[in-house]
Amino acid sequence: MGTLIANGTVISPTGRIAQDVLVDGERIVALYIPGTGPRDGHRVIDATGKYVIPGGIDVHTHLDLPLGGTVVSDNFETGTIAAAWGGVTTVVDMADQHTGESVHDGLAEWHEKAAGKCAVDYSFTQMISTLDDESLKAMDYLTEHEGITSFKFFMAYPGACYSDDGQILRAMQQASHNGGLIMMHAENGIAIDVLVAQALARGETDPKYHSFTRPPELEGEATHRAIVLSKVAGNVPLYIVHMSAAEALDEVAEARHNGQNVFGETCPQYLHLTLEGTLDRPGFEGAKFVCSPPLRSKHDHRNHRADLWKGLRMNELAVVATDHCPFCFKDQKELGRGNFAKIPNGLGGIEHRLELIYQGVVAGELSLERWVETCCTTPARLFGLFPKKGIIAPGSDADIVIWDPNRKTEIGVGKKHHSNMDYSVYEGTIIDGRIDTVMSRGTVLVENDQYFGRPGHGKFLKRGLCNYLA
Ligand SMILES: [Zn+2]
Repeated sequence: MGTLIANGTVISPTGRIAQDVLVDGERIVALYIPGTGPRDGHRVIDATGKYVIPGGIDVHTHLDLPLGGTVVSDNFETGTIAAAWGGVTTVVDMADQHTGESVHDGLAEWHEKAAGKCAVDYSFTQMISTLDDESLKAMDYLTEHEGITSFKFFMAYPGACYSDDGQILRAMQQASHNGGLIMMHAENGIAIDVLVAQALARGETDPKYHSFTRPPELEGEATHRAIVLSKVAGNVPLYIVHMSAAEALDEVAEARHNGQNVFGETCPQYLHLTLEGTLDRPGFEGAKFVCSPPLRSKHDHRNHRADLWKGLRMNELAVVATDHCPFCFKDQKELGRGNFAKIPNGLGGIEHRLELIYQGVVAGELSLERWVETCCTTPARLFGLFPKKGIIAPGSDADIVIWDPNRKTEIGVGKKHHSNMDYSVYEGTIIDGRIDTVMSRGTVLVENDQYFGRPGHGKFLKRGLCNYLA
């Protein structure tokens, strides 16, 4: 027995079409003119008045990651349950290479952490924090044999996962041969560390100084430098993660205009939140909002939020991911009391990306088609998962979200909140739409506000190379 999703509106990057969708086993097998899909012998889900979209793909998460003297509060089980509740059917998590450890050991550890735990399908990007000859060789091996085709580097955090310009150039040259995608955390960490030390010496220890010591110009500068290095390495595809600043967006837009293979990612927190009302809350409350790059001030000379929404609309930004890196306030964010530099960096949001970007559709910032493109289809194409994932089409995995535009969602602890966190940065936010049904490879995970998933349903995905390029 299959499942027929009847009378809904299927959304793809190229438009919205009224169609019946037939699922058999783990796949979508056919699309029909509405009302003509076969009912007999199938379960019928009536999607009248609802949107039928591909399952979300979050290509930037940190689950079970040791960081800042603690470990993020979601492991692969709790994190992927929250993902499922948010209509996310694939996560690409960042496998860590601890400084000094081999890349292969780092990857093996991530496989161990995730195996048998995941509610949704998953893959890894390999983070590289020790960029030596062995690591460069490992990039080739992972691309060819392990289905790991993206690699993340840091221009921030000197003394930890930082890579210098020469190391980054070498990694890019390696990628120009093996076809891997270079992902970059672009902030000038050397300059930031000077500003942090000066602020602390002045007694500026409150959480808001986290933002003031990581100014947008230093994100713009590092983005520029990464773009130049990728050009010198042979126009190797470069993906700038978690962009927060108009200055950085300018650099990506210009590079794209000049024909470079540069792609930008932003996250819901930079589209919805500012320093005001978050990091500047009285006492230590602002620690809940510490992430890097930081939330930006609305009193800056640039309007970062407006520019990021525009960038998303204009395809200067290709992808929305979450950089889900959750910590509880109690005992975790609290490690930085009296010193903002010791607050673990990261926000939780794996569950709320489709919701928060949909709210941009409601507000007229972007189209339904762009919503699906930036949250589902482009991530699949850039990360070598298309057309298995990211599209409602015959032959594709039946990863499907049914979205009801006529119901509301209230985000917050005790409301809609499934991440293992004792607070939500989106507390009280109302979304003018609601996830109705979530299906992963034909199995219903969420329906009627109930969860039916199980750990181990999610499978590891060996990914191909980026297929977004000419
Ligand atoms: Zn991250």
